Amino acid sequence: MINLVLLGPPGSGKGTQARILMSRLGLAQLSTGDMLREAQASGSELGRQVSEIIARGDLVSDDIVIGLIAERVSDSSGAGFIFDGFPRTLAQADALGELLNRISHPLNAVVEIRVDADALVERISGRFTCGSCGEVYHKSNKPPAQEGVCDICGSSDMRHRDDDNETSLRQRLTEYYQKTSPLIGYYYAKGLLRDVDGLGEVESVAENIRKALRL
Ligand code: ADP
Repeated sequence: MINLVLLGPPGSGKGTQARILMSRLGLAQLSTGDMLREAQASGSELGRQVSEIIARGDLVSDDIVIGLIAERVSDSSGAGFIFDGFPRTLAQADALGELLNRISHPLNAVVEIRVDADALVERISGRFTCGSCGEVYHKSNKPPAQEGVCDICGSSDMRHRDDDNETSLRQRLTEYYQKTSPLIGYYYAKGLLRDVDGLGEVESVAENIRKALRL
């Protein structure tokens, strides 16, 4: 089993790279952002509870996201997990360590994807997602072959996230630098950190990650 964490600010490309690793290594992608958006779309009690928090760009409580991950990490029969957007606080990182100890498969590595702040704003303001299969696009860096139609599944249900606006993005970046970036030191001290240049084309970042992980 290979267990990896992708760490980086909003817009750094965690989701895109997680999907590449998923298809290359057969790992399961666990994205708390996707899980929370699914809860919102299904209209569940949890979805209603987190809607405003997400729209503002604040972090959802540790208890909620740890609960979502715990439900998925009890099974150690697969090839492994890629954690994308989790952990985002030191408490979440401790909880993840305990969950993985329980299945006797600790983290193999934490990939920190580095991207400067200007690039983040440009990437996030241009991004949209297929509502059907989750493929992520960008209006200039990665447009679909046919405008408005997903290359992967053919759906024309393209969506722009509510929290991909300037005010929420600024708040998401503040949350990242205050609460999540301390995890860089936390994982460095454990000898797990691999930093990767996240600027440049999707394929070249994927190659940087492959080299950093020696996989
Ligand atoms: P991004 O990395 O682009 O900001 P995500 O899709 O990972 O986006 O997350 C969207 C929102 O969901 C976050 O801004 C936050 O409100 C909530 N969220 C996702 N994961 C977590 C987490 N691990 N802890 C707390 N809140 C989270």
